[in-house]
Amino acid sequence: MTLFAKFEALAATRQALAECGLKSVNVVMEKLISPTEAIVNGRPMILAGTNNYLGLTLNADCVEAACQALQTEGTGTTGSRVANGTYADHVALENDLSDFFDCTSVIVFSTGYVANLGMISTLAGSGDTIMIDADCHASIYDGCKLSTADIIRFRHNDPVDLEKRLKRLKERAANTLIIVEGLYSMLGDRAPLAEIAAVKKRYGAYLLVDEAHSLGVLGANGRGLAEETGVEQDVDFIVGTFSKSLGAIGGYCASKHKELDTIRYANRPYIFTASPSPSIIASTRKALSILRSQPELRHRLWENANRLYRHFKSLGLRVGPESSPIVAVRLASKEEAIQKWCRLLEQGIYVNLVLPPATPDGGALLRCSMSADHRPEQVDRIMDAFADVV
Ligand code: PMP
Repeated sequence: MTLFAKFEALAATRQALAECGLKSVNVVMEKLISPTEAIVNGRPMILAGTNNYLGLTLNADCVEAACQALQTEGTGTTGSRVANGTYADHVALENDLSDFFDCTSVIVFSTGYVANLGMISTLAGSGDTIMIDADCHASIYDGCKLSTADIIRFRHNDPVDLEKRLKRLKERAANTLIIVEGLYSMLGDRAPLAEIAAVKKRYGAYLLVDEAHSLGVLGANGRGLAEETGVEQDVDFIVGTFSKSLGAIGGYCASKHKELDTIRYANRPYIFTASPSPSIIASTRKALSILRSQPELRHRLWENANRLYRHFKSLGLRVGPESSPIVAVRLASKEEAIQKWCRLLEQGIYVNLVLPPATPDGGALLRCSMSADHRPEQVDRIMDAFADVV
C-alpha cells in the first residue's frame, strides 16, 4: 500500500479514455483569437464552454486598465489583504460593489472558491447548522467541510423539503445558514428564490446566495437572481466571482449586515492567502462599469442563449428545465458523452465535458455556455454540430 494507491482507479479511467480514441482529455488553448475562438490542440475552435458570459476577457478598456495597473503597481501584491496586500484599488473595488449591490459591506477575495470557503466556514461554527441545496457547487461543499457546523442537505430546488428540515431543528433553526445558488452551474436552472426567502424569514434563519453564474446575467441591472426575483432585502449574503461575467479572477461577498467588516478578520481563507494582483482588480473594476453601463451585452447574451436552447429542444435533446446561458445536454453514459464530445471537437466546437461525480444525477453532460460575443453564424455552427453529432 502506498500513498498513490488511491489514485489507481482514476488512472484506470484516464487509460480507458485514451483507449476509446481520446488522445487527451486535456484541452490546451494554444492561441486565443477572440473570447469565442481559439486554436485548441492544433485546430481552430469555436469556444462554447467558457463562462465568458459578457465576452469581456479581451475587451480593450479592461485590457488597458490592467496594463496600466501592471505598469504602475507591479505584477503582484506579495501579501495578504490583512498585511501589505490591500491597495487603494482593492478598497475602491469593494466600494464599487457596495454601490452596485446597495450594500453596507463587501469583501473582495482572491477567488470565488476562496470566497465560499471563507464565508461559509467563518459564518457557521460549532452549534450552528448549514443547510445546502444538494446540487450546490464543490466550493460550497468544501466550505462546509472546513466549517465545524452541522451540515444538512435538502433536495435540489425544493423549499418544502428545506422547511421540513428547518422545522425539525426547533429553536436551533434561527442559527442556520441556508445556501443556494442563483443559476445552477451544471443545468442552468434558477433557484426558487422567492419561496426559499419566505421559508428563511419564517424561521429567522440566514440566507447566502452564490450568484457566480447570475451576476451580469439576471436582473434588470445584472445584479443576479435576487434582483430578478425582487428579494434582495431578504438575502443576507451574496457571494460571487470575477471569473465569469467580469472576465478575470477573484471573488466577493456583499452584505447588508455591517458585521461583515469584522468577519473579515476572522476569515482564514481571506487572511492566509495573497490578495488579487493589481491588474486583476483594475480590469475587474472596468468590467463592472461596463456590465452596468452596457445592458445590451446582457440582451445579446440572452438572444444567443434562447436561440440555442430552443434549437436543442426542437432537436429533442435532453436539456435543462429552462432557458439560460448554460445549455447542457444530458447523456445516458460517460462513454457516449466522451465519444460525442470528441466528435464535436473534430467539428471545431469546444463545449465542457462533465462527467460524474460532478454531474447532478450521476449522468454525463455536454455543457455549453453562451456569450454575448458569439456571432449568429457561430451559434449556427454550434447548432449544426450538435444536430450532426448528438
Ligand atoms: N461558485 C460557483 C457556483 C461556481 O460555478 C464557481 C466556479 N465554477 C465558483 C463558485 C468558484 O469561482 P472561481 O472560479 O472564482 O473560484
